[in-house]
This record gives sequence, structure tokens and C-alpha cells, in this order.
Amino acid sequence: MHMLITGGAGFIGSHLAEALLAHGHNVTAVDDLSTGRPANISHLAAHPRFQFVYETITNETVMDRLASTAEVIFHLAAAVGVELIVKDPVRTLETNIQGSEVVLRLARRYQRKVLLASTSEVYGKSAAVPFREDADRVMGPTVKSRWSYAESKAIDEFLSLAYHKQFGVPVVICRFFNTVGPRQTGTYGMVIPRFVQQALAGQPLTVYGTGEQTRCFCNVRDTVRAVAALAEKPEAVGEIYNVGSQEEITIRALAERVLARTASRAGLVSVPYDEAYEVGFEDMQRRVPSIEKVRAAIGWQPTITLDETLDEVIAYFRAAA
Ligand code: UDP
Repeated sequence: MHMLITGGAGFIGSHLAEALLAHGHNVTAVDDLSTGRPANISHLAAHPRFQFVYETITNETVMDRLASTAEVIFHLAAAVGVELIVKDPVRTLETNIQGSEVVLRLARRYQRKVLLASTSEVYGKSAAVPFREDADRVMGPTVKSRWSYAESKAIDEFLSLAYHKQFGVPVVICRFFNTVGPRQTGTYGMVIPRFVQQALAGQPLTVYGTGEQTRCFCNVRDTVRAVAALAEKPEAVGEIYNVGSQEEITIRALAERVLARTASRAGLVSVPYDEAYEVGFEDMQRRVPSIEKVRAAIGWQPTITLDETLDEVIAYFRAAA
């Protein structure tokens, strides 16, 4: 089949491209390289079934041509990373909402299936862990930019479900929880590439807040395996699935784990949220997905441990140094 990946030069998009090529599909990746990087896909450039288009997804003329020939659209292009979102909330809202509008309009025109990449951020500050797909969402006030990301992605979800309900567009929504692996950059705030690079450079690891907040990190190869399988499942249409790991760890313990696995003596430094992001920044204390639904649908669960993933990321940054 011919697959289109928006955000195909991004971290998750480039791994998805590899997985789809390995399944024998033709893959077109479209990316404006705002946060995606040519290096993420340079190893695919010579692949006979891979094509890269350097373009923004809000260019409807180009997107029309791409959507008309693709059978499935994996819509991953979005403003990403808490740090970027807090610094550039206009770009976050415009890219995420306008970009999805274009993709869904075209999916309607050509009746294409859309896999929408959403996020665990849509659960907001909810304390009802593990988060189920049908759970209530708890958002902070609109004066705090962080929540613009969650709200823009929630609008994308509403829009996708509306196009499905009203126009019969086949949509599947994947809520990615923290996803990690080689090629993820720390430039936009993501904690694991930042900690690994700090450890390797002998700089103290910057633990934000108390460090008692928890996350579950899923290896990107496990993540894209779920996405590819959900795309093939007719019963997944019109549904929302959490995709993430349930191996929960505090950020402080994560920092200590990175120091141990890099044999680094760089140590830790506590940084208040106000300094790390902006005054009044709100973080979520625990974030754990329920994965019952995705397991029941496609028999998926993560197979790669956090330690294995950390070792992969460490090897990636060592090789890049
Ligand atoms: N974090 C940290 N130090 C850093 C970057 C992030 O302690 O240098 C924390 C951040 O405040 C959050 C967690 O690590 O509690 C995960 O952050 P990330 O941006 O990777 O993902 P999020 O879960 O916030 O979307």
C-alpha cells in the first residue's frame, strides 16, 4: 500500500517510515523540517519505495496531490515538546489545528484512512491513573501555555471523530504516552535525550521540580508497531487507543539510572519549574496509561524495557559525539 506520513522526518515519523517500508509498503514522508531533521531519514533516501517531500502540511495544494495517491495518512506532524510549546504557543495552536483541518478535509475528499497522533497530555492533571481512553480530562487555565498543546490535540481528536461521524472518514486515534529512542532530540525539552547528553558531557542532570513526578517511557519501536497494527485493524476505526508503557519511574530515579548506565559522576541538580519553563508552570505528577484497550484490539504490549531503551539512546549519542 501507499502510505503518507506527515511529520515523516520527525523522531516517531522516521521510525514509522522504517517499519512501514519493512512491511513492504510504499512510503511518502512530508515534513517542513521545523522540528524534523534530514538526518533522521538520510538512511532511507536511496530506498526505492521511499519518497521525501519538503513541505508544510498547511500547503493544501501539495497535500492534495499527496493525499490523492496515498491509501492511509499517518498524521504525525505537530508542534512538539513542552519547552517549545511554552515558548511558542501560537505555532503550537496553528500547526496542530490548521494542519489537522487540512489533513481531514483531504481525507474526506479522497476517503482515506487517517491515523491521528494524539497525546497523553489530553488527560491533563487528572489523578485517575492508569488513564483510560474514556476518562474525564482535567485541564489547567488558559493563561498557562502548556495546556494549549493538550487543547489543540483534543480539538484534533474532536475534529477527527466529527469527520468520522458526519462524513464517514475512517479515523483511528493513538494517544502516545512518553515515547523515547534514538533520534529523539533534547532541544524541545524531552527528558531522556537531555539527561543522556548531560551525563555524557559530565554536566549535572537537570531534575525539574521535586523529581518525584513519574512517567512511563515506551520505546519508539514498540510504539510504531502498535500504530502499524492499528492501521490494519478495521475495528479500530472511530476508536481511541492509548499507546505507552506501564513501567513507571520517578524523574529523580530516571536521572540516577542514566548516571549509573553511563558510569557518569556528573550528579544531579534541582531546577525549579519556574526557571525551567515559566512562572506558574504546572506539571503532572503521575502519568500511566491503561493499555487494556490496545491489548484487546491487536494483542499489543511493550516488549522493550526502559534499561534497554536507555542503553540504545546512550549508544546513539555516543556514536553521534
Ligand atoms: N524534566 C526534567 N529535566 C529536564 C527535562 C524534563 O526533570 O531536563 C522533567 C519534566 O519536568 C517532566 C518529565 O521530566 O516532569 C518529562 O518531561 P518531558 O518533557 O520529557 O515530557 P512530558 O512528560 O512533560 O511531556
